Amino acid sequence: MSTSLASVGEIIWVIGIVAWYVIRYPFERRARRVQVSRNARTPADRIALALAFFGLAIVPGFYVATGVPGSADHPSIVWAIVLGAISLALGLWMFRRSHKELGRNWSITLEIREKHKLVSSGPYALVRHPMYTSFLLIALGQAFLLPNWVAGFAGLVGFTILFFLRVDKEERMMMESFGPEYQAYMERTKRLIPYIY
Ligand code: SAH
Repeated sequence: MSTSLASVGEIIWVIGIVAWYVIRYPFERRARRVQVSRNARTPADRIALALAFFGLAIVPGFYVATGVPGSADHPSIVWAIVLGAISLALGLWMFRRSHKELGRNWSITLEIREKHKLVSSGPYALVRHPMYTSFLLIALGQAFLLPNWVAGFAGLVGFTILFFLRVDKEERMMMESFGPEYQAYMERTKRLIPYIY
């Protein structure tokens, strides 16, 4: 019973990662065509991105494919799979919504593009970093879905590193580009979790 439940969690996670890529791909293609006018891509940002990718995709992907590290396995429980599936689905939905809302202003690192506009509608009316909120939900989903302490929690570790290495820099860059408009936007929104943080 526990083994088949574990496979259900793993299958849901795999579907999630495929959906993640399907949502992102068109934006990556388009981003290549839009001119960049200000770039805050630093080596630290690249390392943070690589670590996030490692924790959210490589470590769990390797675990699902090989069962390594088996010594960190723990039993699956139904409510954890249900919670994990809900968190993952919410995260993917938020990921899609925030990409759509950012449109041509999206980029994988920190950049200001030509004719960059400050977006403060849709999910951006609730929090300043809905895409990072979506990563948090996806990482939580991973922790609940995969019955392994290492593979499960690697996503939360990767997310935390990326978020804290990036968020101050990103807000500073937005502040330098949009000044009082971003200041006012900061005053009426939270960073990640509506009304809380
Ligand atoms: N931190 C945001 C966006 C991540 S994508 C989120 O979590 O939803 C990173 C790029 O988005 C950065 O290069 C930055 O230029 C751009 N960006 C971030 N917030 C923005 C906003 N409110 N309006 C327009 N562009 C934004």
